[in-house]
Amino acid sequence: MAMKQPHVVIFPFPLQGHMKPLLCLAELLCHAGLHVTYVNTHHNHERLANRQALSTHFPTLHFESISDGLPEDDPRTLSSQLLIALKTSIRPHFRELLKTISLKAELNDALVPPPSCIMTDGLVTFAFDVAEELGLPILSYNVPCPRYLWTCLCLPKLIENGQLPFQDDDMNVEITGVPGMEGLLRRQDLPGFCRVKQADHPSLQFAINETQTLKRASALILDTVYELDAPCISHMALTFPKIYTLGPLHALLNSQIGDMSRGLASHGSLWKSDLNCMTWLDSHPSKSVIYVSFGTLVHLTRAQVIEFWYGLVNSGHPFLWVMRSDITSGDHQIPAELEKSTKERGYIVDWVSQEEVLAHKSVGGFLTHSGWNSTLESIVAGLPMICWPNLGDHYIISRTVCRQWKIGLQLNENCDRSNIESMVQTLMGPKREEIQSSMDAISKLARDSVAEGGSSHNNLEQLIEYIRNLKH
Ligand code: UDP
Repeated sequence: MAMKQPHVVIFPFPLQGHMKPLLCLAELLCHAGLHVTYVNTHHNHERLANRQALSTHFPTLHFESISDGLPEDDPRTLSSQLLIALKTSIRPHFRELLKTISLKAELNDALVPPPSCIMTDGLVTFAFDVAEELGLPILSYNVPCPRYLWTCLCLPKLIENGQLPFQDDDMNVEITGVPGMEGLLRRQDLPGFCRVKQADHPSLQFAINETQTLKRASALILDTVYELDAPCISHMALTFPKIYTLGPLHALLNSQIGDMSRGLASHGSLWKSDLNCMTWLDSHPSKSVIYVSFGTLVHLTRAQVIEFWYGLVNSGHPFLWVMRSDITSGDHQIPAELEKSTKERGYIVDWVSQEEVLAHKSVGGFLTHSGWNSTLESIVAGLPMICWPNLGDHYIISRTVCRQWKIGLQLNENCDRSNIESMVQTLMGPKREEIQSSMDAISKLARDSVAEGGSSHNNLEQLIEYIRNLKH
């Protein structure tokens, strides 16, 4: 008799950077024969690229959607409205959906089994209450970089030993209370909510409470390479008895299933990719183009956009720049005096298939906001970075990339055109060889980890075994 397969219900935080890695994991689980229901908000469900193709490719991958209760014209970015919607609207809808899935399973025994566990990411803490109420184990997938999660878990200790809130304005002071990060962390590398005057400030307390909730998870899944984050992970293992490092997930998926061969290169995207930029890239010499993207959440002031524009044009290098329509609240028209040189050297797009762009032979560097997905994608592509961290885990990532791994250069917070120009020239010129050689070593570690026998490859097998052994 065929073995009854478990059924994992996945609910990602409803933002692009969270949805894509969890979709990669959903595909990997389905590839192993498990049932997965991937739950989106209605808004994201409609926009998710290649949904039909994925369902055809993976017969055990099911898509469901629920209302987020937000008005039609809400921008649905990382905002207090979205955080409130999670607890007030999404939570009851999610609970109802789980009940419906269980009921359908009872009526329809052989087709889709009842849920065996819930998998969600760190920011969706309401799911812990729902899972406990329904008696389901919860697996917590952590989208931000693990060093950030570990730092957040240590915040109560930092408050206790007087390192938080900061006693003065010197942002270079070393933070010593995060084991595994000795000699690396400074005040300026901590997230924005640590820059408050009172330990009981609501944003700091919110971050502490949300992170402490994760301790209730049956297992923690991290999108990283064990060998890259081992010092932190060994400390985290004292709190979380089951940790699975599966990163870089997109590379693990590619190595097991072959992303390009499925013709789903931009799967998991909420926006339509500009394909013409690939032809534009084809027309440039090897490693000559700097790719610029600030991810999906960062907003720039009009003045910052202009500084980047001048810096890029003045660097003399061709550039491909992802300029989301909401990147700044003002307009971001080409400054008139730069129109000619932008046309000659630049290509501006709304959205690209980033993995493909990073892998293109004419791209030689990545000016990034240091989001964790972008950083892992750059590592897999072996592409040196210029880091301009902006929020959340970006600061810790940028510090690790530039200081510890030495695979990038850090741009000052107060970016100005001459700084940008000289950084681009340095990365694409005199520093290239040195940074590339560190990058090649880190990139090899990442690619080895997803190959047969590598740590992420093995951990995926163990995770699947763990899920199969859950009582269901
Ligand atoms: N991305 C993309 N096309 C773009 C810009 C971004 O596919 O034009 C993807 C990118 O590959 C990454 C994600 O969007 O997977 C951004 O995630 P990240 O964690 O780097 O940044 P955040 O979403 O937190 O801003």
